[in-house]
Amino acid sequence: MTVLVVVEGTDKGLSEASRRAVGAAGTLGPALLLTAGVDCRAAAEQGAVLSGVAEVLLADHPCLPGAPENLAPLLANLAPACSHVLAPADAFGATLIPFLGALLGVGPVTETTAFLGDGVFERPCHAARLVARVRVLGRLALLTVRPSAFSPAPPRRDGPPAPIRPLPGIRDHGLCRRLRPAQPLGERPDLESARIAVVGGRGLEEAGSFALMEALAHRLNAAVGASRGAVDAELASADLQVGQTGRIIAPDLYLGVGVSGSLQHVAGIKEARVIAAINKDPAAPLLAMADVAWVADLRQAVPELLRALQNAADASP
Ligand SMILES: Cc1cc2nc3c(=O)[nH]c(=O)nc-3n(C[C@H](O)[C@H](O)[C@H](O)COP(=O)(O)OP(=O)(O)OC[C@H]3O[C@@H](n4cnc5c(N)ncnc54)[C@H](O)[C@@H]3O)c2cc1C
Repeated sequence: MTVLVVVEGTDKGLSEASRRAVGAAGTLGPALLLTAGVDCRAAAEQGAVLSGVAEVLLADHPCLPGAPENLAPLLANLAPACSHVLAPADAFGATLIPFLGALLGVGPVTETTAFLGDGVFERPCHAARLVARVRVLGRLALLTVRPSAFSPAPPRRDGPPAPIRPLPGIRDHGLCRRLRPAQPLGERPDLESARIAVVGGRGLEEAGSFALMEALAHRLNAAVGASRGAVDAELASADLQVGQTGRIIAPDLYLGVGVSGSLQHVAGIKEARVIAAINKDPAAPLLAMADVAWVADLRQAVPELLRALQNAADASP
């Protein structure tokens, strides 16, 4: 039976989250990798040289980005030959896999963090305070896998790249219409795979904008995230939200600025190796759990930190 890994392809290639999904599939057996997007041949070519990929299907069509209803029926045709269909638990996979599950009448296991064998998987629940073990009773497992829980598939050591063949039959079902292109992510690293993430909270309201976080991210080559408080205050867009109902991140360093540290926020950051926080309230829960806690008004602290980083950069040879 085939292990099918479905990832988003772009003209820039494969994301880190996609490589991690391929890495996760590697523990199940050789994978058929499907890259879906527009002008995404580069992604298919990068996938073809990853360890564990036996074959690549290239689904390249303008109707595919942001439209799971155009891709899911094609996957439903492939599914009977598969033991597993999995995708990263990013925006792409988190919309596609439930759509496919609805077509097939199969309940997906989402945010999977471990494969225990015999159709048993682990996933966090109750704001990541518990880990559930889920057994799939049917013959097909539909999964999204949490990128931070798996290592990226390494490049294959020998042999030619896996063959790439186009996926036939792609068509626009006309169920949705794109009003404007998605906002480009720019050069910022991906939140799910960044080594450093700077995350702004509602405390930034006092500073008047989110620009301080952008400046910090630029200096640290970090990804930018936001708490729900910052999103609700319209300081940041919802796709930056980190936490139980947002993105789950596991950077080497998380820096929360003006973030109180609610349970729901912490559910998304608890796997960070080092947690640092700036907050003017010494009783803020995030300060209590932080490895590095700075009790300060962010309007003074962040510019001071930026100056220190600049000085360190100037001093380095
Ligand atoms: C079902 C459910 C799901 C949720 N999912 C999420 C989620 O995914 N992610 C998420 O983040 N939240 C989530 N929430 C919301 C969560 O409960 C909190 O309301 C939210 O995390 C608070 O955001 P915040 O810390 O930015 O704001 P606040 O709690 O308002 O905290 C702001 C902090 O900034 C500090 N501050 C203010 N001014 C300054 C200053 N000048 N200098 C320094 N510090 C300052 C304050 O002391 C305070 O600690 C969810 C809630 C529910 C019910």
